[in-house]
Amino acid sequence: MLEVRGLSVTFKIGSGMLTRRRSLRAVREVDLTVAAGETLAVVGESGSGKSTLARAVMRLLPISSGRIILDGDDLTALTNTALRQVRPKLQMVFQDPYASLNPSKLIHNIVAEPLLVHGHARGPALDAEVLRLLTLVGLDSHHLNRYPYEFSGGQRQRIAIARAIALKPKLLVLDEAVSALDVSTQNQILNLLEDLQAEFGMAYLFISHDLGVVRHIADRVAVTYLGRIVEQGPVEGIFDAPAHPYTRALLAAVPIPDPVRQRARRAPPLAGEIPSPLDPPPGCAFHGRCPFAQPVCSERMPEHEGVTHGGSVACHVKPA
Ligand code: SF4
Repeated sequence: MLEVRGLSVTFKIGSGMLTRRRSLRAVREVDLTVAAGETLAVVGESGSGKSTLARAVMRLLPISSGRIILDGDDLTALTNTALRQVRPKLQMVFQDPYASLNPSKLIHNIVAEPLLVHGHARGPALDAEVLRLLTLVGLDSHHLNRYPYEFSGGQRQRIAIARAIALKPKLLVLDEAVSALDVSTQNQILNLLEDLQAEFGMAYLFISHDLGVVRHIADRVAVTYLGRIVEQGPVEGIFDAPAHPYTRALLAAVPIPDPVRQRARRAPPLAGEIPSPLDPPPGCAFHGRCPFAQPVCSERMPEHEGVTHGGSVACHVKPA
């Protein structure tokens, strides 16, 4: 459903007489695919470029190079007019349900808006469709004529999801969509997303820093570090046999309820800070924090190679 090839996003920072113009390389040569009905989770620390990647896929940001192909349409080659026509196929749910809903609009109007804008329904048919969408996300007719401030965070995210699926998208980009919610509400929203995916076959690009949540919902995982994917593979493989030292360090920070497995962990916890994308290190960008770094790591960028878990990893050192 989604194919991303060689995607890069570079921002120009600084201008004027006294500041040097610099390049911030937020996303670097990313390749990924997501099949219909599949969830690809993109994980990484804050500053790893995952949210920029999400916005670039949505074509909300200018890209520097690469291709984004959705359901056969090359989004990078379309005019603005043509892009507007394929917009219904890709929709986004943002992290903050408080900020993503217009506080001055009734819920009916918020959910109805995309249907009206794209001419999908009006009058009684529109009202019926809005109610159907609200019912799909676990709300009902009592909620139609209320304002966003009258709802809890979880209910607001349900409303945001109802609006996002109104146009029957092929791809839903979920950017930290459950991060602002408590654990119990997170689980309810994750279950709702799974139910909707099973019913409508949407592909999900699920951006998250929370590996516990990712394990619950993802089919495959792509691990990003300083704008690049350093490891990708099936969720069981990534969690049970992570190959990249960065993936292992991220997982080491997630507590395991089983004390035997917790003690058996060999990966050291992640130390230090992610480097600035304004001044990325040469070679493997992780070498300054990697306990397994070799001289070659700071000289040459590792290429992706297949690993036993069925995915690929970009690392000069093979896992023990
Ligand atoms: Fe560590 Fe070298 Fe692998 Fe990078 S390439 S993760 S520095 S071992």
